[in-house]
Amino acid sequence: MIQPTIAATCPDLKKDDLIVITGAGGFIGGSLTRYFKDNGFTRIRAIDKKPLPNWYQRLPDVESLHLDLSEKENATRAVEGAVEVYNLAADMGGMGFIELNRVACLRSILINTHLIEASYQAGVRRYFFSSSACAYNTDLQKTPDALALKESDAYPAMAERGYGWEKLISEMFCQEYWAERGLETHIARFHNVYGPNGTWFGGREKAPAAICRKVIEAKDSGKMEIEIWGDGHQTRSFMFIEDCVYGIDRIMHSDALIATPINLGSNELISINNLVTIAEEIGNVKLTRHYKLDAPKGVGGRNSDNTFIQNVLNWQPSTSFRRGLETTYVWIEQQFQARKAGNRVVSDD
Ligand code: NAD
Repeated sequence: MIQPTIAATCPDLKKDDLIVITGAGGFIGGSLTRYFKDNGFTRIRAIDKKPLPNWYQRLPDVESLHLDLSEKENATRAVEGAVEVYNLAADMGGMGFIELNRVACLRSILINTHLIEASYQAGVRRYFFSSSACAYNTDLQKTPDALALKESDAYPAMAERGYGWEKLISEMFCQEYWAERGLETHIARFHNVYGPNGTWFGGREKAPAAICRKVIEAKDSGKMEIEIWGDGHQTRSFMFIEDCVYGIDRIMHSDALIATPINLGSNELISINNLVTIAEEIGNVKLTRHYKLDAPKGVGGRNSDNTFIQNVLNWQPSTSFRRGLETTYVWIEQQFQARKAGNRVVSDD
C-alpha cells in the first residue's frame, strides 16, 4: 500500500527545517506543536499573544514567543527563516463568544493578512490556514436535519456574521497568494474540535467541554440539574483533536490540495441532547435538564460532508464521539479537581 505523505515522510522537508505554529498557546496550535515534536521535528517556533505562563501546553526545546501577530513587525519576526507556517491564531470561542464578539473575530483578519504577506516575503515553502465550518452559507443550516456541508456550499456566501466572514476572506487571501504570487497555501475548514488541553470554562469553551464540565459540577455540588443552551435539538459533528492534527498534516502535504479549501471534520451527527446523554453516561449520573431558549445557539444543524477528503486523501476523521468524549471528560475532571484544590489549570488567564 502507498504510504500517505505527511511531514515526516515529505521529500522536501527535513527534520531540522523550521516549522512555525501560531496560536500555539491555544488548544489546536498547542496540540499541533506537540504532534510535530513527537514526530521528530527539532526546530519548532511556537507563537501566541498570550503570556507564556498562560499557554495550554508549553514544550521543552520549542522556541516559544509571546507576540501579537496582528502587528506587522511581529508577523515578520515570526516567520523569519521558516519553511512551513501553520496559522492557528484567531480570537475565537464557542457560540456565546462568536455571537457576542463579532468585532474581535473580524479583527483576526489582521493576523492572517500580515502573516501571509510576511511568509511570501520570507520565501516560506508552505502556508496553512485554519478556516472553519462557520464560513458556510448559514441559510443551508437552519434545521437540525440540514444536509451535510460540501465544500462548494460556501458560495453564494452568507457566512456566520463576524467570525465566518473573516474566515472566508482569509481563505481568499490564501487562494490569491497562490494564484498571483505562487505561495503554496493549504486551507482546512474545521468542524467543531474537542479534546484534552482545550478551553473548558470561562466563556470561550465549546459545547463538548461545557457539557462535560456542567455534568462534573452537578455531581460535585449534588445539585442534579443541567442548563442547556437552546432546545437541545441543534445538531453538530465533533472532531477529536488527534484526528484534527493528523488531518492538518495530511492536508498541508497534499499536492492535490493547494489553495483548495477542504472540510476537516467528523461526519458523526450528534444532537446537543444526545451529547448531554453521552456525558451523563460517562459520568454515571442522570440530571434534570433546563433549556435556556434565549442563549446563543448558532445554526440549527451542521455536519461535514467528507466525500472530497475521502476521495483525495483516502482518509477522514474516524474517532467515535463516545471514545473521544470519554478521554475529554476524564481530563476535564482532573482539571476541575486540580482547580478546586487551588491549583492553576488550563483556561485560567
Ligand atoms: P484557541 O482560542 O484555543 O487558540 C487560538 C489562539 O490564538 C489563542 O491562544 C490566542 O491567544 C491566539 N491568538 C489570538 N489572537 C492572536 C494574535 N493577535 N497574535 C497571536 N496569537 C493570537 O482556539 P483553537 O480552538 O485552538 O482554534 C485554532 C484555530 O482553529 C483558529 O483559527 C480557529 O478559528 C480555528 N477553528 C477552531 C475550531 C474549534 O472547534 N476549536 C473550529 C473551527 C475553526
